[in-house]
Amino acid sequence: MAVADASDVARATKAAAKAFESWSALDPLDRARHLRKLAELVRERITELAGWESAVTGRPLREMRAQMARIPEWIEYFAGIAPGLEGESNRLRGSFSSTTSWQPYGVCALLTPWNHPILILVKKLAAALSVGNTVVIKPSELAPCTPLVFAAWCTEAGIPPGVVNVVTGEGATGASLCASPEVRRIDLTGGTTTGRRVAAAAAERLVPCTLELGGKTPVVVFEDSDIEEAAAGAVFAAFVASGQTCVSAGRFIVQRPIYERFLDAFVKRAAALKVGDPADLATDVGPVISYVSLQRIERMIQHATSAGARLVTGGAAPQFDGPLSAGNFMQPTIFADVKPDMELFQEEVFGPVVAVTPFDTEEEGLTLANDSPYALGASIWTRDIARAARVGAKIRAGMIWINDHHKNDPRSIWGGYGDSGYGVENGWDAIKSYLIKRNLIVSSNPKFDDWFKGGTRYG
Ligand code: NDP
Repeated sequence: MAVADASDVARATKAAAKAFESWSALDPLDRARHLRKLAELVRERITELAGWESAVTGRPLREMRAQMARIPEWIEYFAGIAPGLEGESNRLRGSFSSTTSWQPYGVCALLTPWNHPILILVKKLAAALSVGNTVVIKPSELAPCTPLVFAAWCTEAGIPPGVVNVVTGEGATGASLCASPEVRRIDLTGGTTTGRRVAAAAAERLVPCTLELGGKTPVVVFEDSDIEEAAAGAVFAAFVASGQTCVSAGRFIVQRPIYERFLDAFVKRAAALKVGDPADLATDVGPVISYVSLQRIERMIQHATSAGARLVTGGAAPQFDGPLSAGNFMQPTIFADVKPDMELFQEEVFGPVVAVTPFDTEEEGLTLANDSPYALGASIWTRDIARAARVGAKIRAGMIWINDHHKNDPRSIWGGYGDSGYGVENGWDAIKSYLIKRNLIVSSNPKFDDWFKGGTRYG
């Protein structure tokens, strides 16, 4: 892949600025027609897109087929709601009327990570385009291929040249994009360190940004939950995508009366997961994204062991013969009796390694769950609806699932706060975040009320 330099970035942002004039002038229903055509193209090509997405990220083909099958939903949802956006009109004191309307920002920079290269891109892109913005995408250097293919499909769907642009490259390419004078809005999904840099770059130019950053997602399991169901939910929450999603469950906080029974059921299910070739539809867990990532995960396993956490399953790379022996695999790994001051309780692993910690009272469970600078996802397992509502209201997270995990839908906002960033994807909130709300105030007074000639407008 080419590493785009500042002049490549400038060509892309200028192309996007030029295309903005005509794209933003289209009727929303006409833009929606192009987006629906794009959704159709994706729908016809789900199998090949999933194959490439799996090959690039190492995520199991079964996962990527399921995820790619949902991509058209985001495109059709935003295409569907954008034409329905309404302004308001109000009468003001003293024969004035106020009318609000929405205006797109212009060129938007979309900075995306490697773990869901297409899903995360489409969440941002569909919202931005549907209301008349144009975009320059900077995909992760570890997974830039499918965003390039996707951009070509946008052209094939009839979206005019210049509306969707991609610059491949490294962090410096993203930084150069954020500094481009044409860029009027920034949307990043990435790590918290990158988030701080991007927020600073955005602040420098007074450009608004959305930051979807990291997390250390707690899962609180109460004694009244169905243990087998909670264990099934736990392996899904922790090990889908090899634990490499921003809301992967990192901390299981389990009420003492069921602690050992839950742990047994969790371990049995984790140990039964099939780790291996992502192209094999029977594989449950693929490799992690890179050797660097695997080394970081191994280091965190060593630290947890030396800090006194109890390793109950996994903890090492599985052994393979043949080509898989070169892969960056890690067994699903569970540590029990993890203390809140340990690194494994506090730091994001971004791999298949989790902490389990006991608690006694509801209050203690909540205190443990909230012991984190992150506030992105959280799940609560209980059959007591009053308890679910009570704990759900106090847990520090932007998205809270009761008796489930990972649920994502275009109609359901997605985002966090604290070290997890700010702003949301999905829903009307996302579409409005891609728009400037303006206010037109009209006087219907017969003549100007001249303040310096005894006017009464402040009266
Ligand atoms: P990074 O933060 O490394 O990168 C995200 C994107 O930003 C990449 O395209 C990256 O380019 C680019 N980038 C890096 N530095 C800069 C910079 N200074 N200015 C502008 N752009 C820059 O994240 P990862 O790709 O490693 O993804 C993993 C992280 O993302 C995890 O911490 C995870 O928690 C978070 N995440 C959050 C999600 C959410 O919804 N909240 C969802 C998924 C992941 P390059 O890769 O080439 O360096």
